Amino acid sequence: MAVRVVILGTGTIIPSASRKATSLLVEAHGETILFDCGPGAVEAVERSGRSYKDIKRIFITHFHPDHTLGLGRLFSAMKNDGSDPEEGYIEIFGPEGLDRFIDGWNGLYDGIVPGGDRLGLRGAFCSAGHSGEGPDIKACEADHAGKQAYAYRLDYQGSSVVFTGDTGYTRSIVESADGADLLIAECSFPDDRAMSGHLTPSSAGRIAVEAGVGRIVLVHLYPSMEEASAIEGVKRLYDGPVEVASDGMEIEV
Ligand SMILES: [Zn+2]
Ligand SMILES: [Zn+2]
Repeated sequence: MAVRVVILGTGTIIPSASRKATSLLVEAHGETILFDCGPGAVEAVERSGRSYKDIKRIFITHFHPDHTLGLGRLFSAMKNDGSDPEEGYIEIFGPEGLDRFIDGWNGLYDGIVPGGDRLGLRGAFCSAGHSGEGPDIKACEADHAGKQAYAYRLDYQGSSVVFTGDTGYTRSIVESADGADLLIAECSFPDDRAMSGHLTPSSAGRIAVEAGVGRIVLVHLYPSMEEASAIEGVKRLYDGPVEVASDGMEIEV
């Protein structure tokens, strides 16, 4: 096992008893990385037996609240837990506008954002290749109805994971996901209720087929997207393993 993925949440901005908003934790090379930090993500890290203090890097797909509301919780914790700054440094990566977005938290909650000794911001992020032996992480442009949005690919010791974030079908994600072991794809709506900037079972399946991924796991399900029909819809196109994720699910890659 080179990479472990913990699916912290599998839902959307619509409150759900069973699905917190979609965020992922990934462990590779002894490092703990988050992809998105939606509401409930920080608590889910603790529930998984890990600590928010383990988080070293956060890759934000886009600034919608279901992907970012947990940052306020995290910032508050960092400001109030009395940790040594050198132990608690976090780097946040994301699309253009990241600095402005993070500074917005200071407008809402005076001075909530940790200072530069504890927080590094990398907006308009393209790639975070590691000079050492750690994971290689690249962003690609997603198609989220005109919003600045990224999908991410992580490669480490021959294992590869792609997270679509929120997106419609787009060739850039097919290219980014080429040959990946695991595709974690949003699957927001049924095909007969498709909305631009989001995937359905058939468009998620199309990406899986065209990219030739080894396995697809579906996340970011709105209440109208039933699990059984999500799987059935993907399987109509894609003949590899298909699952709908549940909150707290852990996957070794
Ligand atoms: Zn979303
Ligand atoms: Zn969104």
